Amino acid sequence: MKTSMNLYVHLPFCDHICFYCDFKRKVSISKKEYIDALYKEFTSLNIDSIDTLYFGGGTPSSLSIDELKQIGNWFIPYLSKDYEWTIECNPDSLTKDKIILFKEMGVNRISLGVQSFQDELLQKIGRHHSSFDVYRCINDLRECDLKNISIDLIYALPNQTLKQVQNDVNIFLSLQLPHCSIYSLQIEENSVFGKQHLKPADQDLEADMYDCICQTLKGYHHYEISSFCLNGYESKHNLVYWSDKDFTGIGWGSSGKEKGIRYDHASNYNDYLLDPLKRYFIETTKEDLMFEAIMMSLRTTFGLNVKQFNEKYKIDFYECYKKTIQKYQNYFIQSKDSLVCTQEGRNILNTILIDFLE
Ligand code: SF4
Repeated sequence: MKTSMNLYVHLPFCDHICFYCDFKRKVSISKKEYIDALYKEFTSLNIDSIDTLYFGGGTPSSLSIDELKQIGNWFIPYLSKDYEWTIECNPDSLTKDKIILFKEMGVNRISLGVQSFQDELLQKIGRHHSSFDVYRCINDLRECDLKNISIDLIYALPNQTLKQVQNDVNIFLSLQLPHCSIYSLQIEENSVFGKQHLKPADQDLEADMYDCICQTLKGYHHYEISSFCLNGYESKHNLVYWSDKDFTGIGWGSSGKEKGIRYDHASNYNDYLLDPLKRYFIETTKEDLMFEAIMMSLRTTFGLNVKQFNEKYKIDFYECYKKTIQKYQNYFIQSKDSLVCTQEGRNILNTILIDFLE
């Protein structure tokens, strides 16, 4: 059966490796081989139309104009009427020519990896762009009428002060951009920082930084723990992840969800090239699936759709999780059809989730 889908496309190429990064990405590999494998996987999909399309990586903008055109053209005939098409870009590889191409192809959302506006911090985390590159990109995007721009920022960076975080958020505000995702630095074992045994920031300082971000962005819709937007600029693609819906992932290292069951691709790059159609479904119990649905949806201000949950898992949510809901009742906004965490609830979400898990 053909269906409308939400599609993630993994483009794992980077020009260099950032010190905090643990994603599936490669430098200096044959892009042609990968694009051929990806095309095989793309043609195996039974697509009717695409509602949300997300090119992530790696750094999709590090591909050449011809490569971007080649891949982009596969999807254009399937875009639905109200599609959202996001491409992740880095300021050092996003040129005006690429922006013009994106606009021509119908890309309507750009996610720009800014991380910080402070050049000294950017160098410390192994980024190869400067704040000047960011301003140039935003200017070029606006000149080409690509105004739906989201930027990523990272806080709790090595030796970063509260004032520097405040400064980054203030600059974001001054740019009047519609969307921002802000993450705290995680020291991943396999990243350069992990191998250097870098110590994470002090937990109290990190919490103060998050508070400061939330306070400074009060005028924005804080619709998910790490996401802030002007009204109407919520990421449609990410909302799919948070609302327990199926999505399709293609490309090395990507994941998807089919009939509620998650799948991965080969974790070894050459294995993916040999058999790009192979999906590894992850064994999950009904309880695992229910927990994941609760965990993801409570991150957002839309919360858990209780009606949909009850129908899908053939269960009475409020009855099943009575004890936990009672225990944290002051942290929830409860109605017959939905359960939403308050801001305070989202601040202690990990603690609440432990009870849901039990
Ligand atoms: S953070 Fe992004 S640009 Fe940096 S190495 Fe990782 S995937 Fe590449």
